[in-house]
Amino acid sequence: MNRGKSKSQIMTCKVCGSNAKYAATISSDVDDPECLDMYACPKCGLVFVHNPLNENEMAEFYARIDREKWFHDSASFVDKKNKMVARLIQSLKGDCSKISSLLDVGCGDGHLLEVIRESYPLIQGEGYELPGCEEAAVAKGLSVYTCPVSQIPKHYDFATMVDVIEHVPDPAGIIRDIGSIVKPGGRLIIYTPRRCFIDTMLLAIGRLGFTRRMLPKWFSTRLSIWHVQISSAGSLRYSLSAAGFTVEKTQYLSSFSASVDYFLKRMRCPKWAMGTVKFFVELVFEKMGLLKTKVLCIAIKN
Ligand SMILES: [Zn+2]
Repeated sequence: MNRGKSKSQIMTCKVCGSNAKYAATISSDVDDPECLDMYACPKCGLVFVHNPLNENEMAEFYARIDREKWFHDSASFVDKKNKMVARLIQSLKGDCSKISSLLDVGCGDGHLLEVIRESYPLIQGEGYELPGCEEAAVAKGLSVYTCPVSQIPKHYDFATMVDVIEHVPDPAGIIRDIGSIVKPGGRLIIYTPRRCFIDTMLLAIGRLGFTRRMLPKWFSTRLSIWHVQISSAGSLRYSLSAAGFTVEKTQYLSSFSASVDYFLKRMRCPKWAMGTVKFFVELVFEKMGLLKTKVLCIAIKN
């Protein structure tokens, strides 16, 4: 797919509307050519690639993926994060009067809904997926909407977006749509890649000296044709506030995925050295809390 280069130094931030600045041109996968222009917003902190897929292209691309293989290969870390979200819902339940309904936006094969069903049989969990991507969840007997989120004819106590918003071309739009179907006092939980210390550091010094090569390589592990933006606390707060939510809690977490692995592959690190280099990178950066590449954000509908 030829996304081309925009050759523009400024792009309107799709969350806050400020002028986002060109930062680098990155590749979408290890051996892909560098073809995605990346921008960083100085106001809300969003980092995003230009030319994300539109909704039809997205549905077409996702429909082509071997989802059975993907769900199988990622089962372990998906299980881990979904159980974390389920525990979170349990911890929130204490001060949330009654949870009877939950919508998982971007429910995939419905694993989170299954975990919820097992943990809280009284919660009626339903899903939303792109048209053509709902079969795996439906096959498990789950109820899945494929119409636009804003047209779902119900209101929910809880909505979840777990590793989803980074895929959505219009992140503020999907949060706004979810805002229209969450009850006042209801909650939205978002789990997504966040702009971490290393991202910000490289954006600041990435065009200098030896870091010039690292900037596109690092961000090629963070953004792609699939992951079209990295949220920041500021960009999430901006979108949530515009949709009638108040941020209740924000927590930064180390990722269950493997940015360091991908980065070392892109830097052509020899296989024999990979383990040692990864050990020291994680020792230094992760122990210092600099590799907290994910954010868990809980917001309450006003
Ligand atoms: Zn912005």
